[in-house]
Amino acid sequence: MLYLLLIVVTLGLGLGTQALINAQYRKWDKVYSHAGLTGAEAARRMLDSHGLYDVPISITTGKLSDNFDPRRNCLNLSQSVYGSYSVASIAIACHEAGHAVQHNLGYTPIKVRTAIFPVVNFASNAWIVVLLIGIAMNLMDMVWVAVGLYALVVLFQLVTLPVELNASNRAMTYISDSLAMSVDQEKGARSVLTAAALTYVAAALASLLQLLYLVARAEN
Ligand SMILES: [Zn+2]
Repeated sequence: MLYLLLIVVTLGLGLGTQALINAQYRKWDKVYSHAGLTGAEAARRMLDSHGLYDVPISITTGKLSDNFDPRRNCLNLSQSVYGSYSVASIAIACHEAGHAVQHNLGYTPIKVRTAIFPVVNFASNAWIVVLLIGIAMNLMDMVWVAVGLYALVVLFQLVTLPVELNASNRAMTYISDSLAMSVDQEKGARSVLTAAALTYVAAALASLLQLLYLVARAEN
């Protein structure tokens, strides 16, 4: 019963925040920004204003697949963001540029995130296998190892929150100070980034609830 409730809450949070980001993106992707720049041009200017002339920007496939790659120190913008003049595209492109700035300034949460990523990548695949073996063989120690591995995944999602919020703050500071957008368009850019941040909050909350459930079950 409790598990059913957990699934409903998790699904509701996930779908609700996904619907919100899609709606905000659709709305502000139709609005041509007064800055008169494409997403790629805005990101380039923001990077250059921080002295990051050597961080390249390339196009990647997929919708809302924009990201900063810390290993290659490069920005990957989706096709629709790269060449679009919309408010949404500029917000997203500058958010990714914000991650590049964090990386190159040595912002602590992004360093922690990058450092624990390989372990978390392993843990996120391994925890369920370890849990199932532990349950099947009735080995409580293994169940607790699985809970520990899952806790690492939750930790990663929690560290992601300040990283994402800070990248959005950097983007909004740059947009307000350096791009000629109207107040209304700035609000639009902020709405897109806030909706995106909420998807991370929902994901972290869902995995935290799942962890609490696992701990409660393991103790009984
Ligand atoms: Zn981000």
